Amino acid sequence: MQIALTFDAEHPDRPHCPPGVVDQIIAALGKAKVRATFFLQGRWVEAYPHVTQEIGRGAHRIGNHSFYHARLTLLSDEGLIRDIEAAEQVIKTATGEDPKPWFRCPWGDYGNDSRILQMLTDLGYRHVGWHVQADEWEIARTPRQIADALVSGALAAGESAIILLHTWPASVPAALPVIIHRLQDAGGEFVTLDDLRPSAFQGYLPAVGRAEQGRVI
Ligand SMILES: [Zn+2]
Repeated sequence: MQIALTFDAEHPDRPHCPPGVVDQIIAALGKAKVRATFFLQGRWVEAYPHVTQEIGRGAHRIGNHSFYHARLTLLSDEGLIRDIEAAEQVIKTATGEDPKPWFRCPWGDYGNDSRILQMLTDLGYRHVGWHVQADEWEIARTPRQIADALVSGALAAGESAIILLHTWPASVPAALPVIIHRLQDAGGEFVTLDDLRPSAFQGYLPAVGRAEQGRVI
């Protein structure tokens, strides 16, 4: 089976996010010789250009995660275009890489609004959701719990799975080698979104962090 690890890199809005987590994630991926896809928020790229370059050097694929990490449903057409293009520009400047066609809406949320999906298409992007996630931003979640949830979820997903992770929760670096090892043992092949079979881009889980769920990530 094919597995695409995807990491959303944005400013954490949770407490207890120690510095250096993203560096440990990059190191763990490098050690395992696994390539992943990183969705980068534009403002985060501006704040951490050296980390952004490190991600590029690791031969990971880079996608666009908007500039302000705003709720896209609240933006006008013009605001949307500006936000997406601003993120694209800083990513290109920092890495020389074009994030197109990969885009992930903040919180995965486009409000089931065809306006946003059409706008993305017009700009050369497609929104990528995920099939498996583990609430790893919850402080009480241990690396073991995160690994168990992601491994069992990926194995249950069938021929391919897109896994959602973030670059800032403290438990991710310890969970990552376990996830990689166990899924490789089960015959999993880690790929970037570029190499994922086309049929994988469907059946996403619902967006997370909707205000009505009282959860903001
Ligand atoms: Zn995000």
